[in-house]
Amino acid sequence: MYEKLDSLLEKAKKKIRTEFNRLGMMGFDELNVTNTSKTTRSMFDRLLSNNENLYLTAAKDSYTNATKAAKGAGFSGEESEINGEWLTAILLAYNLVTGYLYDREAERKRLRLNEQILTAREYDSREMYNESLRKSANLWWTQTSQYGIDVVDSAALQAYADMGVEKVRWVAEVDARTCEVCKSRNGVIYDIAKVPTKTHYNCRCYLEPVDIEE
Ligand SMILES: [Zn+2]
Repeated sequence: MYEKLDSLLEKAKKKIRTEFNRLGMMGFDELNVTNTSKTTRSMFDRLLSNNENLYLTAAKDSYTNATKAAKGAGFSGEESEINGEWLTAILLAYNLVTGYLYDREAERKRLRLNEQILTAREYDSREMYNESLRKSANLWWTQTSQYGIDVVDSAALQAYADMGVEKVRWVAEVDARTCEVCKSRNGVIYDIAKVPTKTHYNCRCYLEPVDIEE
């Protein structure tokens, strides 16, 4: 279910590291208020655009696979297009797992980074600076990967809905780390309109269509 996403995320992780490392090379003499803002803005523009491409690729892959699964379960219907508009609608909506809006949160993270850069500069502390960059990169990674999961899940649900699937089965990857909520949902069949929200970050439970005969 998440293979494609995971391989894309691996590459994204490297790109994120490269971006923050580049920022880490800058001298405090370059990072005045105006330049800090300009630099983080162009960096976040690139980060956002990388993610957009990643999400579209992962979503299209997920949609194709889910459509196949639905057809395999005996359903059929008209396919819709996974495009930028589709993605934007998801990113603009309040997200129940993260508890924020994607774009607004990206801007909040950027502004917070600006503040931290200027504070480190004020204290003339490279240590503080590097620590802020490390944290900021991690937080961006968390947002990036969580929305990757969300977009993949949404694309699968979209495909099921398009194919006329009415019921879906929750599948949890049960191992020692699986939380109680996910464990208790494993195998449970839900009406497609009433699938419960995931309860934590990084949840890789997925939904499969219940056969038309069942
Ligand atoms: Zn889970």
